[in-house]
Amino acid sequence: MDNDIALIANKSLEKKEINRKDAAQLLSVEGEEIYDLLYWANKIRFKYLGDKVSLCAILSAKQGSCTEDCTFCTQSDFYKTETKSFPLVGEEEISNTISQACEDGADSLGLVTSGYSLNSLARRGDLLDRENDFEKFCGLVKKSSSSSGVPLHASIGCLSEEMALQLASSGIKQVNHNLETSRNHFKKICTTHSYDDRLSTLNNAKKAGLKVCSGGIFGIGEKMDDVIDLAFTLREVDVDTVPLNFLNHIPGTPLAKNPSLKPMEILKTIAFFRFILPDKEIKVAGGRETNLRDLQSWMFYAGASSTMIGNYLTTEGRPASEDRQMIEDLGLVCVRN
Ligand code: SF4
Repeated sequence: MDNDIALIANKSLEKKEINRKDAAQLLSVEGEEIYDLLYWANKIRFKYLGDKVSLCAILSAKQGSCTEDCTFCTQSDFYKTETKSFPLVGEEEISNTISQACEDGADSLGLVTSGYSLNSLARRGDLLDRENDFEKFCGLVKKSSSSSGVPLHASIGCLSEEMALQLASSGIKQVNHNLETSRNHFKKICTTHSYDDRLSTLNNAKKAGLKVCSGGIFGIGEKMDDVIDLAFTLREVDVDTVPLNFLNHIPGTPLAKNPSLKPMEILKTIAFFRFILPDKEIKVAGGRETNLRDLQSWMFYAGASSTMIGNYLTTEGRPASEDRQMIEDLGLVCVRN
């Protein structure tokens, strides 16, 4: 057992902050030492989150035709992909998805829309203007949230403080808005909006009393320093949930030919986030099946405490029953059991 990893793990177990030197050491482990890293990440997860696994489902509630140029995304109008576009869904679609999410055992349902913001007038300093889609969305949430068997979360792009307050009063409990990567690397993957736009959305959601879910995507050409910067920024913002996505190579997007991350590298990344954010919900989200393949169940041993079930935004996931079986076989317990 690697003694340096154990020493750093003890800092996490005692909730002492891990510094940059320790962080770099964790991400530098190779070969059989990765198993030591996973061992400790699992211990840290058990200490703070026990045997509980949170499962979230999502609905793509407005898709495609996005004005932004995020290079990993199949919904951007900048790239020619086969993803179909559609406008904001109606009440029936939301209600059907709520029923499905309950049946699948999800403990939350995220309503996700494409675009810089659901408010089509919202650009940079103009976030106080609102247009139909945002108002329509809040109306739909109001109608659905009171009778919904699962809490509703929203991932609707950039938010002003006023929009965040309105979301909260409509019944939304948590907002997702990923930072995606480090401030430095973000400039290389998106040129149409800034890292600060994303950070201020998180801060506005927090000010409105909403829980905040924010993480990143890996396999997009990031370096070790970018992974550390992202984890440290999320720690500073004090997010509640950290979704980790792994690039799905969708033809037509600029990153379609990027090399895939190896499953053990992915497990190392999950474990790293558990060390840095010991008591937070670490959620393995997009790209799980294609990138982890047979090692999917190892994500929990690597410190994950949550995953996404059912379909993803633009790609299909495996049946939720297989994920619930995997969790039961590991002796873990779904939050909504
Ligand atoms: S990640 Fe969001 S903002 Fe970026 S292109 Fe995709 S839908 Fe648009």
